[in-house]
Amino acid sequence: QNKPKIVILGAGYAGMMTTKKLIQKFRPEEADIVLVNKHNYHYQTTWLHEVAAGTIDINRSRIMISDVINTRRVQLLQDTVVEINREDQKVILENGEIDYDYLVIGLGFEKATFGIPGMDENAFTIQSVDKSRMIREHIEYQFASYKNSTNDDGDKDHLLNIVVGGGGFTGIEFVGELAEKVPELCNKYDIPRNKARIINIEAAPTILPGFDQELIDYARKSLENRGVEFKTGAMIKECKQTSVMVGEEEEEIKAGTIVWTGGVQANSIVGNSGFELTKGKVNVDEDLRAPGYENVFILGDCSWVMDKESGRPYPPTAQLAMQEADTCANNLKALIQGGPLENFVFDNKGTVASLGGKHAMGTVFEGKKLFGVTAKAMKNVIDDRYLFLLGGPKLVLKKGKFRPF
Ligand code: FAD
Repeated sequence: QNKPKIVILGAGYAGMMTTKKLIQKFRPEEADIVLVNKHNYHYQTTWLHEVAAGTIDINRSRIMISDVINTRRVQLLQDTVVEINREDQKVILENGEIDYDYLVIGLGFEKATFGIPGMDENAFTIQSVDKSRMIREHIEYQFASYKNSTNDDGDKDHLLNIVVGGGGFTGIEFVGELAEKVPELCNKYDIPRNKARIINIEAAPTILPGFDQELIDYARKSLENRGVEFKTGAMIKECKQTSVMVGEEEEEIKAGTIVWTGGVQANSIVGNSGFELTKGKVNVDEDLRAPGYENVFILGDCSWVMDKESGRPYPPTAQLAMQEADTCANNLKALIQGGPLENFVFDNKGTVASLGGKHAMGTVFEGKKLFGVTAKAMKNVIDDRYLFLLGGPKLVLKKGKFRPF
């Protein structure tokens, strides 16, 4: 008997949670489930700013997929997706190909640099464990180089400057971690703290556009108190190897490390496979399917889902990706076994941004604002809740963040 084959691409928040839900919904004789991922581990994308700054161990952010997914029920395929052939219902992989009856695309994001000259070539991005590890190693290398440089006429000072392009959620969480890490590095390499600069550059008039003003003010003050400098309303015009050109006057800011967090788009495999993109992502139907494709769902950072109330897409978050996984699994069940498909409805549980160490801020429970240690404790609860959903109490004990700081 021919069983339908469901193939899930990407073991991020969307892919992992869809797989978990499908295991609950289908008996083994009802559907084959295959999860394709580049690595044999899942990583916590929401912790990558900590990996990049070097404030948590790399392994803390990684979870072996086989530890949390039943491999007798799901076939795990460790391979890299190259292209999706929609007409033949096939996925081309680096080491072969796989066909599907139903496809779930959860391949995550890539940086969007909006054509800023040099940004692609010269800036790092906080995108995967490996790319984040490059950043932490590079920053430490610059501190070591500074210490060993014999050039004493001030020319080596820029090695210690870290420029972060983009003052959105990721950029701000990252400079928060740097505010904790840089003093540690200064100590380690015996360098005065005021020699190393952390500079955040944002084109919009404010950091964290879209956030509540009181939260923005709190974040900015907290970070400035710990030595972060901000340039807002300042567009990066060009990124060179060791500097960025900023604003209409093209002020040159030299830096040993440049990290771009200013924009994301869908994994380029999606566009290259012929799915129509709007501002870098696929505008999916209300039931999360790709327009025109009855058997293809696109989730998480690869897609936009419209918020009918505001008329704008929901911001891309892990929270959104996980909720989409629920709807996607329900809709696959309906497609395969009959029944109406449901439309996705987002239940916003709030957002908390960490600002490094014991500092954080955000909103929970329909707009209640939290600051400082209370916000940090809530952030840890959110992180632990995800671990619980993924791997139960065992995973929380192994990787969780129980303490408020
Ligand atoms: P991802 O979680 O990025 O997963 C994509 C997966 O696809 C990865 O496992 C990757 O290895 C795999 N993959 C990619 N390419 C291939 C390929 N070619 N072949 C095979 N596999 C491939 N959101 C929140 O809700 N709260 C937060 O606090 C928060 N903080 C964040 C902090 C940072 C630093 C960043 C970068 C993002 C943060 N976000 C946060 C956003 C959130 O992480 C994303 O929205 C979320 O990860 C999207 O989930 P996803 O499943 O679409 O993609």
